[in-house]
Amino acid sequence: MSEPIKKECPVCGVKIVSGGMLGDRVEYSVGAPGTRDDLYQRVCRHTQKAGCINRDPKGTSLPNR
Ligand SMILES: [Zn+2]
Repeated sequence: MSEPIKKECPVCGVKIVSGGMLGDRVEYSVGAPGTRDDLYQRVCRHTQKAGCINRDPKGTSLPNR
């Protein structure tokens, strides 16, 4: 198994962990982990700063269903 890739959004301060076929997981500083879409709805869509790595959930590796 390959190492999961972790990326931290410098704007929102959350970590996105690549989960391959299972989809990416988002780790918040507090609370239970969620999905990237979850993160987008809760945090990133409110963020108007450049540098947020989750600005476009449709452009991710997640199946968009
Ligand atoms: Zn973000």
